[in-house]
Parts: sequence; C-alpha cells; structure tokens
Amino acid sequence: MEQFFSIAIDGPSGAGKSTVAKAAAKALNFVYLDTGAIYRTVAWHITLMGIGPKDTDHVPMLLDDCNIRIDFQEDGQHMILNGMDITGEIRTPEIAACASQVSAQPAVREFLLDLQRDLAKSHNIIMDGRDIGTVVLPDASLKIYLTATPEARAKRRYDEYIAKGQKTTFEEVLKDQEKRDYDDSHRAIAPLKQAGDAVVVDTTDMGLQESIDYCVALMRERLGL
Ligand code: C5P
Repeated sequence: MEQFFSIAIDGPSGAGKSTVAKAAAKALNFVYLDTGAIYRTVAWHITLMGIGPKDTDHVPMLLDDCNIRIDFQEDGQHMILNGMDITGEIRTPEIAACASQVSAQPAVREFLLDLQRDLAKSHNIIMDGRDIGTVVLPDASLKIYLTATPEARAKRRYDEYIAKGQKTTFEEVLKDQEKRDYDDSHRAIAPLKQAGDAVVVDTTDMGLQESIDYCVALMRERLGL
C-alpha cells in the first residue's frame, strides 16, 4: 500500500495554525485539512435545526442527517453540508463558540473521526486542529504544537474579524478566546493537549511569514523532503 506523509498541527485558537498549515501545504504540495471547519459545520447544522450545542439527547440524533462533504477547490477547502456550500457562513464568532461546545460531545467527535482519518490514508496531508497529534493521527510523520500568548492570539483574531467588517472589540475577542481555551483544554474527551512527541513552535514574536518559513523548514528537514 502506498504510504503517505501526514503532518499534525495542533494548538489553541489564534496561534496561526490554519495560515501556517495552508501555506506549508502549498509549499510542499500536500492537501490541507482544516478540521475546525468540520466542527463548525456540525455547529451550523444544529443551529439551523434549533438545537443547542450542549443538548446531548438531540445532537447525536441530528448527526444522522448531517451529510458533510469536503471539497478541495482552487481557493481552498469548501464545506458542503447536505449539498449546500456553507464555507463562508461558518466564519462567525457565534459559530466558533457553538463549535467549541458541540465538539465536547463524544458522539460528535466519534462521528468525525473516520472522515478525518480516511483523508490521511489517501493523501499527503497537513491537518490542523486540537487533537490531531493525540487522537486523530497518533502516528503522524510530524507533529507540531503551535502556540503564542493569549494577547498575541486575540489580536490576530480581532484584526481578522475587523478586516471582514464584523463588529467586535479586542476585549470581547480575548474573553471569548479565554473561554474557548479553557473549554478546549478541560473537556473530558480529546482535550487540547500537546502530544509528547510534538515539536513546540511559539509564534508570539514571529511575523506570519517567519512562522511559515520556520515550519516549512522543519517539515522538510523531518520528512526528508
Ligand atoms: O479551529 P477553529 O477555531 O475553527 O475550531 C472551532 C472549534 O472546534 C474549536 O474551538 C474546538 O473546540 C473545536 N475543534 C476541535 N477539534 C479539532 C478542531 C476544532 O475540538 N480538531
């Protein structure tokens, strides 16, 4: 069977995971999978159905009607839910908060596991998320734990929301992020945690391009590319 490389990038929100992973995938000609977008898609689905993210009775039932397809297009990963492209819709603070809560449900994590693993079986892939190195791909060719201080991360998210014309304040973004960080690292199942064999990259004092260059060099070196 053909062997494929897999690279896991985990870390808290705003550390630059998706930007680094996307750019590195382009440089190495790997597929990039943003796993947070999959959780956001589930969040979108239950919100649409009027069910709350902590409802452990109804959320598992709704998963049966949640047909998720991932379409890798020229401009990146598109999320198709029951035939509808919702790629843009899931990028809001509300959906981020809902995704964080619904992702704590074991049924949701279980439901999404095979989807993520199957992609790694058939592509050279870079995945970013919270539990890629610890749960989804424990045998990844390389694991990176990307992090930065809470202030540096919140500032990046804030700039991103403002650039998109969304109304918010830095304090609000920081507060939401603190809650998500706490929830993500304290949930019972697949918490955000550094894998023992992950390389830690702290991007607090690095510019974006610097973080990308650093990670791509690390990948090339470790994978012999
Ligand atoms: O990375 P992103 O901000 O899009 O993720 C949204 C939420 O989905 C996170 O706060 C986290 O709770 C959840 N998530 C997860 N496991 C992943 C990716 C995201 O639990 N692999």
